Amino acid sequence: MTFLRPLIENLREALTHESATPNDSALRPILVDPVDKDGLFVVPKSITAESEVRYAKRRQDSVRIAQYADSKCGLPATFDKDGGYLCGGRKDGRSSACNKLVGTECLIRKNPINNMHYQSCGMWEMRNAGDPEGRYCPKGKLDDSRIGFGSTKSALGFSCQRCEYSTTMKMSDSEGRGSFCRLKGHPVESNACCEDNEPV
Ligand code: SF4
Ligand code: SF4
Repeated sequence: MTFLRPLIENLREALTHESATPNDSALRPILVDPVDKDGLFVVPKSITAESEVRYAKRRQDSVRIAQYADSKCGLPATFDKDGGYLCGGRKDGRSSACNKLVGTECLIRKNPINNMHYQSCGMWEMRNAGDPEGRYCPKGKLDDSRIGFGSTKSALGFSCQRCEYSTTMKMSDSEGRGSFCRLKGHPVESNACCEDNEPV
């Protein structure tokens, strides 16, 4: 039986090693999708039921990490159905101002808003009388990098359809999203938006 001893010891070592450093992918799968030479995700040529599940998981991550919202996911108050996402809404009044804007003061931003029809941040919320907002204390007010504050030259505002990372797909997903975000790696609605918007 001595010839079996090395085998048994190797097996015991392998099992011990396995329990000490468990295989990470066995704990939960890591989603890996193809990336192009420019460092952004490849736009899919087709969408399957399996890929929709993967995209839904990525979209939930965008909701959490970048405040993504569209008509079917994310915080409903942070979806602008008109695709403006502007502090003061569109100048022509055809989109909602942000619920956190009072005059030129933003309740959460350190500095006042000086161009409300062309500025925004990732924390935009639709104006809603039933949704009171709190003014942050002076020390607690947030700087621009924290809230993803930025400007656009478009009078129509922000949203995925005016973001450099959005590409129109050849087909829509089963919930009607017809664009693909190459930064986040999942289908998006044209009027959706997130904190990482790069205006074009
Ligand atoms: S900076 Fe952000 S939170 Fe403040 S008013 Fe503008 S969109 Fe709203
Ligand atoms: S297309 Fe732009 S705004 Fe839309 S989710 Fe992607 S990064 Fe955000």
